[in-house]
Amino acid sequence: MTNKNDNIVWHEPTITVDKRWKNNGYKSSVIWFTGLSASGKSTIAHALDKYFHENGVHSYVLDGDNVRHGLNKDLDLSPASRKENIRRIGEVSKLFVDAGLLVIDAFIAPYREDRRQVRAMLEKEQFIEVYVKCSVDECERRDPKGLYKKAKKGEIKEFTGISAPYEEPDNPEVILETDKFSIDECVAQILDYLKEKKIIPVFVIDKTSTA
Ligand code: ADP
Repeated sequence: MTNKNDNIVWHEPTITVDKRWKNNGYKSSVIWFTGLSASGKSTIAHALDKYFHENGVHSYVLDGDNVRHGLNKDLDLSPASRKENIRRIGEVSKLFVDAGLLVIDAFIAPYREDRRQVRAMLEKEQFIEVYVKCSVDECERRDPKGLYKKAKKGEIKEFTGISAPYEEPDNPEVILETDKFSIDECVAQILDYLKEKKIIPVFVIDKTSTA
């Protein structure tokens, strides 16, 4: 999106993100969960956030419903609004990455092109797309908010997976099969990825472990 004001000039920060990483001992990045409603995005996002909190890594969860209460409360569920929803979340996530945080985004984000645009806002290593994969049947069976039931009755229009499309990621960095693995196993899978890519150090101590 082009800037509407010619007199706005980017101000280079004194404290760069590299300096923050050095101080913190880990790198900031966006961990972007995408998947159907009830696939487990929020559950795993908050479990991961808890792990980080208990192990001295600063993180923050941006959650679909919460963002729609404030920043994006003017947006509906039409394709154009969904696109703008994701664009704004991408921009906020980018600021958080600059602030040195591990940002955990938990949004359905059904369109491949919208996710690609967020990826394009960030450095290659700083966007980790996590496909939270779960069959529609299992999501419908879980239905923790009763949304599938309402969508099937036609009470919710444009419901992803029922009456609106979900475009699976082509090449996600991580795939979590939540209908096959437990919440803890899914969290461990992400931690392994972050350690392998040297985003968090391998010596992050699991204070929850009794070993
Ligand atoms: P979403 O944020 O994708 O809409 P939620 O996290 O709100 O999904 O809901 C997922 C539901 O599935 C929760 O009730 C959670 O306890 C349950 N669940 C069962 N197994 C898993 C798993 N392996 N990973 C994540 N959630 C799971």
